[in-house]
Amino acid sequence: MSDFPLFLAGEYTEAASGATFESVDPSTGERVGTAAKAGPEDAAAAIAAARAAFDDRRWAGRRGTDRARVLQAISKGIKERAAELAELESRDSGATLAKAKGADVGGAVHWFRTMAEYAPRLDEPEALPQTMAPGPSYNYVRHEPVGVATAIIPWNFPLQMAAWKISMALAAGNSIVLKPAPETPATASRLGEIIREAGVPDGVVSIIPGPGPGTGEALVTDPRVDKVAFTGSTEVGREIMRLAAGTVKKLTLELGGKSAQIVLDDADLDLAVDGAIYALFFHAGQVCTAGSRLLLPDALHDAFVERLLARLESVVVGPALQKGVTMGPLISQTQLDTVLGYIDTGRKEGATLAAGGHRLEDGDLADGFFVAPTVFTDVTPDMTIAREEIFGPVLSVLRYDDVDHAVALANDSDYGLAGAVWGSPARAMDVAARLRTGTVWVNDYQLLNPHYPFGGYKQSGQGREHGWQGLLEYTETKHVHVGLDARRASKRWFDMTVPRPR
Ligand code: NAP
Ligand code: MG
Repeated sequence: MSDFPLFLAGEYTEAASGATFESVDPSTGERVGTAAKAGPEDAAAAIAAARAAFDDRRWAGRRGTDRARVLQAISKGIKERAAELAELESRDSGATLAKAKGADVGGAVHWFRTMAEYAPRLDEPEALPQTMAPGPSYNYVRHEPVGVATAIIPWNFPLQMAAWKISMALAAGNSIVLKPAPETPATASRLGEIIREAGVPDGVVSIIPGPGPGTGEALVTDPRVDKVAFTGSTEVGREIMRLAAGTVKKLTLELGGKSAQIVLDDADLDLAVDGAIYALFFHAGQVCTAGSRLLLPDALHDAFVERLLARLESVVVGPALQKGVTMGPLISQTQLDTVLGYIDTGRKEGATLAAGGHRLEDGDLADGFFVAPTVFTDVTPDMTIAREEIFGPVLSVLRYDDVDHAVALANDSDYGLAGAVWGSPARAMDVAARLRTGTVWVNDYQLLNPHYPFGGYKQSGQGREHGWQGLLEYTETKHVHVGLDARRASKRWFDMTVPRPR
């Protein structure tokens, strides 16, 4: 059996074709393990199992309170295996151990536990206002599971992303087939066992890593699928919309970003400098919400940049599992090439390279995909590095003259995922109201919570995840009208039949 087999309809199994692939540790280039590589036929089998499980109501038919108990058991199961999962996540994805423990494993524990709180709310119909028109009636809304969901996720937060999708789908009573990114199959594969042990009926969840073209496409086009939840790049998001159009699937899309951090002139500089570094260099910039554009007021610019460059020296780049390391590698050679390409473009287009700008390959770093923390100053809004998502440790610093200018710069983007304002809360909240993005942090960054809606304006996506709103994205809304006066003569219909004599 592969190290990371498919979890298909409650069983661990190889791909139907027998295909496998090697997962590599991006810190060292060493092999993490062999994973089963799902093909379109495995996607079809997983969808068939999910459909059957949904249609016989083995999960959807249970009370929300009952589903909640199972979600709590999943949360507990992940917690019990936290140390092992975090180590595996770190090796498979290049996450520092702190990130793997706190964000990936900790996030997964938190999401399942919190979605368990929401599930029972779906048991109760929501009453609508009492009305007399068009007839005396009692009206209510039922939030019902959407059916079979499929989810396609990237490699930057493997276990956390899997947990987001699966916890919300299960809380609402759906079946789900999840495709992890091929770069990071490990922890999602392990999650299957925990889900089974927690008592999720067979067929309700399948986890099948495989390539986007082929396997991913099958998950988006199969007519037995009702909903697709996609997290990834805007480019692939567009393709998913096109593919899903054929069968008019429900869609949620969490896509790319080019988020701005605005530093106001009354910001606490110790906080804002370290915050700006965390906002972009966390996980080597491979974060959809990364604060990749730093907007500084003219008056503060030079002093801020000086402090930032000095603090940047204390970022410790190294193999993700090594003690004291605060920034690990990029996920792959492809990502390394992409990021180095953007750095080259930044130089050519006339930005000033103020720090980094190169691969790191001395000693321990020789076989990994490391890039030095990179800062460009004198970036103007038309430059490629101010417009495109780099998904690497490259910060673009822009200047602004007044707050209106800062807001205009921040909003001058095809994206609208997140951003921050560093400054006195009252002023910062005014600025926050003017930003066209799905999340704004004031004097904070990167903090998501299962209670808070998350998603993008503009080309950063569609729909929201998390919280009540996120859960509703995994439901259909059914309106039920119960006529309260059953006498034929009382009906104010546009009569089709001749009125009966009274
Ligand atoms: P990606 O290239 O868009 O891939 C995401 C997933 O989609 C992978 O599993 C991929 O498989 C699959 N895929 C690719 N083509 C497909 C197709 N035609 N049909 C179905 N599935 C397909 O993104 P990535 O490079 O892995 O991740 C980085 C991106 O994710 C960034 O743009 C980042 O901003 C975004 N992201 C967004 C959020 C958010 O919540 N907004 C969170 C994290 C990341 P293959 O790799 O095999 O192609
Ligand atoms: Mg990819």
